Amino acid sequence: MWITVASGKGGTGKTTVAVSLALSIDNAMYVDADVEEPNGALFLKPDIEREIVYTEPIPQINTNVCTFCGKCADACIYKAIVILKPLKKAMFFPELCHSCGLCAYVCPVEGALTEVPKEKGKIRFGKSGNLKFAEGLLNLGEASATPLIRGMKKYLPRDGTTVIIDSPPGTSCPVVEATEDSDFVLLVAEPTPFGLNDLALTVSLLKDMGKPMGIVINKWEEGNEIIERYAEAEGLPVLGKIPFSREIAEKYSQGIPVIYAMDNGREIFSEILKNIKETVKNG
Ligand code: SF4
Ligand code: SF4
Repeated sequence: MWITVASGKGGTGKTTVAVSLALSIDNAMYVDADVEEPNGALFLKPDIEREIVYTEPIPQINTNVCTFCGKCADACIYKAIVILKPLKKAMFFPELCHSCGLCAYVCPVEGALTEVPKEKGKIRFGKSGNLKFAEGLLNLGEASATPLIRGMKKYLPRDGTTVIIDSPPGTSCPVVEATEDSDFVLLVAEPTPFGLNDLALTVSLLKDMGKPMGIVINKWEEGNEIIERYAEAEGLPVLGKIPFSREIAEKYSQGIPVIYAMDNGREIFSEILKNIKETVKNG
């Protein structure tokens, strides 16, 4: 099973929940797909065993051969290529390119447009105790995290391992990429009006994608039911609650994941996993 842990906004405790869930499972892999700012390693302190330089193909136009017909530019829906016919000029904007390969496919002139590899970032693999670990590190200056997340997923197991994907925050393309192949999405939300607003945006996205999901409330306080009321109205299960506690916050600041910061941490996360399995089983 692949489970993505997501949140509408940063700072909700998404990573400490993802790390803790992974640590509560016997045969699991924690995957840090928050590739612009991966910080799961701060909690897990993994031994890195392997590093891959991840590349994707981008077009390179040979203006000595190109006829400036414009077919590549017309084909590119991302407007990454501009052909100025009268000036016999070809311009390429790599930050807009999604490496789909269509421009190379439609180019009618042999040797005018070739694909060359462009480094997007690195993917590192390792272990933290028995827990398998992977993280993506996006190169500085890369405009989109999506290709690297897509690349990481090619290396994730589809065997008996439970894969916990720590998604980037927000509701844009990288989040879609980090969730779309997962069997379940665990949403981490704070019980505040801001937290609710961002949770609702993510829920709306995931409903469009038809993803099964459930909510963990972080920094939960007795009497504050803002998230529970929303979950009930939306027909979403609340799978767990992590209390607001100074002790948890202090341990978090020392790099101790929430599962080890609470006396009953292991029970809370075992219960969350059990609830996820039941929700998936019941459709
Ligand atoms: S399709 Fe090929 S020949 Fe035409 S403008 Fe693009 S690179 Fe040049
Ligand atoms: S590879 Fe795709 S996205 Fe990139 S320039 Fe070519 S058509 Fe556009």
